[in-house]
Amino acid sequence: FADQINKPASDVIKKLMFLKIMATKNQSIDRENAELLAMEYNLDLQDEVVTDLTRFEEIIETDKEEDLVSRPPVVTIMGHVDHGKTTLLDTIRHSRVVSTEAGGITQHIGAYQVEKNGKKITFIDTPGHAAFTEMRARGARITDIVILVVAADDGVMPQTREAIDHAKASQCEIIVAVNKMDVPGANPDRVKQQLADLGLLSEEWGGDIPFVEVSALKNQGIDNLLETIQVVAELKELKANPNRQATGSVIEARLDKGRGPVATILVDNGTLRVQDYFAVGATYGKVRAMTNDLGDQIKEAEPGQAVEIIGLNDVPLAGDPFRVFEDEKTVRDIADERQNRAFDKQHNSKEVMSLEDFFNQASDDTKKMNLIIKADVQGSIEAFRGSIGKIDVEGADIDIVGTGVGAVTDGDILLAEASSAIIIGFGVGVPASVRELAKEKGVEIRTYRIIYEALDDIEAAMKGMLDPVF
Ligand code: GDP
Repeated sequence: FADQINKPASDVIKKLMFLKIMATKNQSIDRENAELLAMEYNLDLQDEVVTDLTRFEEIIETDKEEDLVSRPPVVTIMGHVDHGKTTLLDTIRHSRVVSTEAGGITQHIGAYQVEKNGKKITFIDTPGHAAFTEMRARGARITDIVILVVAADDGVMPQTREAIDHAKASQCEIIVAVNKMDVPGANPDRVKQQLADLGLLSEEWGGDIPFVEVSALKNQGIDNLLETIQVVAELKELKANPNRQATGSVIEARLDKGRGPVATILVDNGTLRVQDYFAVGATYGKVRAMTNDLGDQIKEAEPGQAVEIIGLNDVPLAGDPFRVFEDEKTVRDIADERQNRAFDKQHNSKEVMSLEDFFNQASDDTKKMNLIIKADVQGSIEAFRGSIGKIDVEGADIDIVGTGVGAVTDGDILLAEASSAIIIGFGVGVPASVRELAKEKGVEIRTYRIIYEALDDIEAAMKGMLDPVF
């Protein structure tokens, strides 16, 4: 009952005691008592369907095959600092077929579209994985394809590895853009080799990752890159139904002095229209006006398109889910309920993924343990990987979602949060600021000197026999 009305069980139990009914946390209650309780909460039990709508991001769409049309792929550019992400985004933006109307003054709204061979591609305009991971941590699955930029004169660097981990964890397709091909000393084969060592084998070498050589600065190879994106997108068969109310995610949001809260919404299904009522994150609104990436006022936005909207009651967060509903009352009620829930969540301790509670995971299927391994030397990572593969506990699986040499970083915490992973460190430090972030995000970090101690703990956790740490 508590779950259904999104109130803490302790609160419900208190109310029940007040009604002279003794109950424990794991007990269900009968209809009569449910009605009494509903009165206490000023809820109408008939309204339960509406309560469900408050979890609108979990609604699973079912569209008939004949209603589906293909939608543009959504692409994010990642890679090491200074390898040319921003330059590449700018060059691609300028390669667009500019619509002649309105002068086509491009405007930064967090995403833009280009057209190639009559088909559109949507680029997320914030390079790097910080934004990407923040959004994913909030459950947003925005990106279809990650362009991994690697400078041909520099090769694979730490953030290249991080970007690969993020891209893999999000199950996006990866295309490698080997950039700075114009620089003397550019060595694309070395990049290919380094990435092959990390499990990204190029198509020319018999793998399935497209590699495209470009110079973002000199505008070389860009057409080829765009065409490769379209080939990859085609294989993914990205489809959406434009004839339904829009759903999507927030890419950016801010408070504008003149216009109030402003948000860029990436529509992932349906068509968004001016005057639509919507719920977004823990707030709501009515679309008063929409602006596209060219600064044009538009009346409709289709799947795969990003638009800046005004008419929100509050500023949502990047990655927040968005959905259009019939009327104002519905979206207001949903937002109210979601605000309460956010409040409850803040005041009840956050769900933490840790070794200790691994075994208590509520799961009927195989329990899954995600790990991020950090070590002082690469050898330890390989040794750990080798031994962990030998642990075999029925009903439990281990997945290593990331590895790296060096101290635990903020980036590791964000990846752990987004993938519900535990961080295991060997002979590495954890800076105080990183520890602080881990605490805030509810991420467990365990550090060990010796590999087999970690293996023992993990095996024990999988079997549900871990001694608690004090
Ligand atoms: P970001 O940190 O990954 O966004 O990298 P930037 O796009 O800011 O690029 C870093 C530096 O590399 C800038 O000075 C760019 O002008 C330069 N750069 C980017 N792409 C190329 C390229 O294809 N060739 C050359 N020679 N320089 C480039």
